[in-house]
Amino acid sequence: MSLSSHASKFAAPRVDAAGRMALIGLNLLEMQEALAIHDLPKFRAKQVWNWIYQRGLTRFEDMSNLPKDMRTLLSDYYSIERPEVITEQRSSDGTIKWLLAMTDGQQIETVYIPEENRGTLCVSSQVGCTLTCRFCHTGTQPLVRNLGPHEILQQILHARDVLKEWPEINEKSGPQNGRDLTNIVMMGMGEPLYNYDNVAKALKICMDEDGLCISKRRITLSTSGVVPQIHQCGEELGVNLAISLHAPNNDLRSSIMPINNKYPLEELLEACRTYPGINENRRITFEYVMLKDVNDSDDTARELAHILDGIPCKVNIIPFNKWPNSDFECPSRNRIMAFARILEEAGLDAPIRRPRGEDILAACGQLKSESQRLKKPESH
Ligand code: SAH
Ligand code: SF4
Repeated sequence: MSLSSHASKFAAPRVDAAGRMALIGLNLLEMQEALAIHDLPKFRAKQVWNWIYQRGLTRFEDMSNLPKDMRTLLSDYYSIERPEVITEQRSSDGTIKWLLAMTDGQQIETVYIPEENRGTLCVSSQVGCTLTCRFCHTGTQPLVRNLGPHEILQQILHARDVLKEWPEINEKSGPQNGRDLTNIVMMGMGEPLYNYDNVAKALKICMDEDGLCISKRRITLSTSGVVPQIHQCGEELGVNLAISLHAPNNDLRSSIMPINNKYPLEELLEACRTYPGINENRRITFEYVMLKDVNDSDDTARELAHILDGIPCKVNIIPFNKWPNSDFECPSRNRIMAFARILEEAGLDAPIRRPRGEDILAACGQLKSESQRLKKPESH
């Protein structure tokens, strides 16, 4: 059967320059349909799926439980792509940042952050961001498009390749094999809830026991507050929720985050209170970037503690990370600690996040892939 006669069945069958159909990003059912075009039975698609997501293979010829002629056929008609790596930067603190190119030339950044007992991958959901939070570098990037499920997954597959996280051929696969990459945060470039369908599809493959097998407990999605999608995210994906809050009242929040005009604080906090599965053991994280003389006063801290009363949560205090030509300053260490103390006295957990990868502009809010920046290495 020809490829075109089946094409309408797929959301967007992707083909490479050689006309081969790309498999990354298809769910199992779609992969079965894709291979059925060449009369391959479902169990063969499942075998290919396992090789791709459990073992990280990128060449059909290495899929040892498939007959030789089938491997040749697969190589002729299908592809398992990885993104093109434009740069890899390693910070003195072990953080790694990759600038990756998609097939249309658009670029995104992905950051790996090693910590004592875990390793976290910060994954992008869009090229740039349509929102314009005033403190965020990504929001200044003019080019914006959604990433497809394959482009979201490819960031994770690439990190697993570099960190050598794939189990050996004879080793048992499964979550126990993740040593360095244990957690995923959708906190890179873009607003994940403005690209919900693609993010959801990628995360389902990520969470699938036969897929990348990363537990939903180890996945966190961060949103600037796209209220209508929050409930669906909890119900359908069940991942941890982080909210970029940054201010305890509408006037202040709207002045630094224009999305607050669309979805004001009352609606956002109500969506948090009713987030599926939320309780004291599964709390919401509120991110709070500290901006000098803007949202860092004692009164603001008290107001923050007040509005969060009754929501199972913690507040992640993020010292503002500077980027070229940004309007804001980071408050002093003493001011940040005084702010955190007020929250803690009110009974909230309020850890102060240690900036990671600052020397390579990999810290929160510093990501931006615009090619202009690459021409100015002195700003790194
Ligand atoms: N768009 C989503 C996902 C990006 S997460 C969101 O906004 O939640 C990136 C986190 O870094 C967000 O909490 C964001 O508010 C924060 N951030 C943005 N710019 C920052 C900066 N310059 N310094 C510190 N944190 C910043
Ligand atoms: Fe977009 Fe998040 Fe940056 Fe705001 S903080 S501009 S929503 S990436």
